[in-house]
Order: sequence, then C-alpha cells, then structure tokens
Amino acid sequence: VAKNPGEAEFHQAVYEVLESITPAIEKNPAYEKANIIERMVEPERMITFRVTWVDDNNNVQVNRGYRVQFNSAIGPYKGGLRLHPSVCASVIKFLGFEQVLKNSLTTLPMGGGKGGSDFDPKGKSDMEIMRFCQSFMTELAKHIGADTDVPAGDIGVGAREVGYLFGQYKRLRNEFTGVLTGKGLSFGGSLVRTEATGYGLCYFVKEMLKDNGQDFAGKEVLVSGSGNVAIYAAEKATQFGAKVIAMSDSNGYVVDKNGINLDVMKQIKEVERKRIKEYAARVEGAQYHEGCKGIWTVKCDIALPCATQNEIDLESAKALVANGCFAVGEGANMPSTIEAINYFLDNKVLFAPAKAANAGGVATSGLEMSQNSERLSWTFEEVDEKLHSIMVNIYKNAATTAKEYGFDGNLVVGANIAGFLKVADAMLAQGYAY
Ligand code: NDP
Repeated sequence: VAKNPGEAEFHQAVYEVLESITPAIEKNPAYEKANIIERMVEPERMITFRVTWVDDNNNVQVNRGYRVQFNSAIGPYKGGLRLHPSVCASVIKFLGFEQVLKNSLTTLPMGGGKGGSDFDPKGKSDMEIMRFCQSFMTELAKHIGADTDVPAGDIGVGAREVGYLFGQYKRLRNEFTGVLTGKGLSFGGSLVRTEATGYGLCYFVKEMLKDNGQDFAGKEVLVSGSGNVAIYAAEKATQFGAKVIAMSDSNGYVVDKNGINLDVMKQIKEVERKRIKEYAARVEGAQYHEGCKGIWTVKCDIALPCATQNEIDLESAKALVANGCFAVGEGANMPSTIEAINYFLDNKVLFAPAKAANAGGVATSGLEMSQNSERLSWTFEEVDEKLHSIMVNIYKNAATTAKEYGFDGNLVVGANIAGFLKVADAMLAQGYAY
C-alpha cells in the first residue's frame, strides 16, 4: 500500500488474491524464499505517455496513455486496451494483475499486460476516434510486438478501434504481424473473437450450474452493460434456454419481461451507438429506468455483471440474494466488491469469479495469435469448440484446486491458486534476476 498510494482498485485486486492463495504459499517454502509475492505484485514495466490529437474543431487535445507489462513468465504480455475517462494507473494495474492469473488459467502461453487511456470515446466522431487511435499507437508501437506484447480490446475498444490501431502500427513498422487481436476478419481476425467473452462466460456458468444440478433453461437472467461482453453473454444465455429480462448502460437499465430482443439491442448499441433508453422506445412492453445500479433490484435467478468494476456492492448483493438469485457469473473484470463476494459465498450463491469466467475473450485472442502464426483461419465451429473446451477445463481446474486445498465449491480460491501456481513455478524456474 505504501508503495502504491491511492491505487484503490489495484489494492483491492491484489488483496482478493493474496487472501486466497495463502494455503498454496504455505505448502511450498520455495515461494517465500524467492519472494514470489512481492515480485508478482510489482509490474515488470509500466509505460505512461502523452497522447496528443486534434478534434473536429481544430483544438489540440491531450490525453494520457498507459501500458503495463505486468508479467511475461509464461508468454508475451497479453491484455486489452481500455478507453474510458476513469482510466488511471490504479485501474490499469488492477486489470494487468488480474490478467496475469487469468491468462495462466487459459492454459495458453500468454503473459499479462493491460493498457488504455483516459480518453472518452463517447460523443466523438469517427474521425476523432481515428486520430486518437493513430496518435496513441504512434507511441505504443515502440513497446509492443507479436512476440513481445499483444494488446486487444476492452471497454471503449472494439473492432473499429483495433482496425485503426493496427493500421497505424503497420504504417509505422512496415510489417504485417499479429500484433493486436480482435482484428477484422479480412485482416487476420479470428471468428468467434467478438462473441468469445460473453459466450465463454455462459459456457463456464453452465458447467458450474451442471455441477450443482442446475441449468440455464427456464431461468430469468440479468445482464448488466450492453457492450461487447454483455450482448454476447445475453445471446448465449438465451440460446441455452434462459430469458434475459434486463440489461443496462451507464445511464440506466431496461426491463423486458418478454426477454430482451437482441436484434433490436444490437442495432441500437453496435450499429447506431445510441443509449439503451432507445430500446424501451422501440420495444413494446419494455420499461426504462434511470440509474444503472437499480438493475440489481430486479428479481432474477441468475445475475451476469458484464459492465465494469465494483458495479455490485454489498447493498446490491443483498438485494439480489433477497430476491432469490442463486448464481452469479462475472463477465466484467472485478464487478463485485470484496464485501459482495463474501456475502454471495456466505449465502451459498454459486459464484463464478471474473478471472476464470471471463477468460474466454483472451483465450480466443490466444487462438487468433495461433492462426496468425500459421497464416491460416479456422472455421467458426472449430474456434467455438476450442473455446468451449477451454472454458470447461478452466472450470474443472478451479473446482478441483478449490477441493484440493479444502475449499470445496469456492471457485474464487480455486481460480486464484490455480492461476498463481503456474506463473509462480515458471518464475522460480527462470531465476531471480527478474
Ligand atoms: P464495452 O465498451 O463494449 O461495453 C461496456 C459496457 O459497460 C457499456 O454498456 C457501458 O455503458 C458499460 N459501462 C462502462 N463503464 C461503466 C461504468 N463506469 N458504469 C456503468 N456502466 C459502465 O466493453 P466490454 O463489453 O468489452 O467490457 C465490459 C467488461 O468486461 C469490462 O470490465 C472489461 O474489462 C471486461 N472484459 C472484456 C473482455 C472483452 O473481450 N471485451 C474480456 C474480458 C473482460 P456506456 O456505454 O454507458 O459507457
């Protein structure tokens, strides 16, 4: 805490992990001898830089760019870029730290990194987005590469932004490599990458439900957010026979007891880039409510938080449990506060933690890297099948590890320990001077 003052999100992410990996540290004295914890919470490298761009009124704007290269013990740094006004060192470091363990759980050879900027894409024109991305990449290009560090999307960074970033990298380097994932399909992107985090979340949750004699079919589901993760989580949950009855954005939420019409939602959010309020204006029977937090007061069986960090606090967790919610699957990164997680676990809610449950996005990014290296493209079915088996394996690994350490059913402990062990052992094997 003294070394990283004011970094509340980073402290929270580290605290949650350290609290649960103690049994693994105690089991192997080599970790303590090698000071593995202190090494793991210190990023290998943190880059901050100025991003200057010109808006449509010819004003010069200045933002701050970040890239944390957190840990490369098991592969090149890998993790998304976030464009949101709340981005700061603490947010980037919490995301980077989580990413290290998440990538380890995927079983693919990827280290952990994360980046972004406090640039707010809301209300910006397409040309402004392009000029920002080009300026951002002009600096970032010095630090990344297909075998060094491979960024992807996150909040505010989708296919459009990845395209602009990739174009600028190629222009600067004069090389066509898989330096970013989440690319368009015509220039090296992978099928299923768009759907991967949301689909993967549902594959994971389905496995957790199955293990507890439950299923998605016939259940009422809340999905917060209406971005990339939320839309495809809602799509897969619906395909699994559930009814998604509410979704949100940062202004408010819509309730549609008939089940969210995803064609309308995609049109509003992906094509027109409008607010979720528009949904209620277009779909009969749907209601709009101001304020995004209220979504957790809607009665449901299963909650899938897919918007942002700390969106479920203790009060929201209590409201969910009081209304009969029996399972929570985290699509966003760290969407539940520590108090909320403990409340879920104390009340026997089936809880799928983010770093395991939302690993499908980065796993499919890993598959995109493999396809780029081979200069081949796999079919939708091939990638989806691989994603599915990766998510089932992550679930099994977390569940078995939890049991092995005496925390049967606690996937938070299971995922943290399983993710930690692989990275820690690789670091030990590679010596101290790093
Ligand atoms: P998008 O930008 O596509 O969507 C984000 C959604 O969350 C939007 O509906 C947005 O609403 C809402 N949101 C963002 N910030 C806030 C906030 N402060 N309060 C309330 N709502 C907010 O992002 P993604 O769907 O890609 O990411 C969502 C979450 O999933 C993030 O936590 C991300 O780190 C995580 N994640 C994403 C992966 C991916 O593959 N994309 C992979 C793994 C995790 P509005 O439009 O009003 O801002």
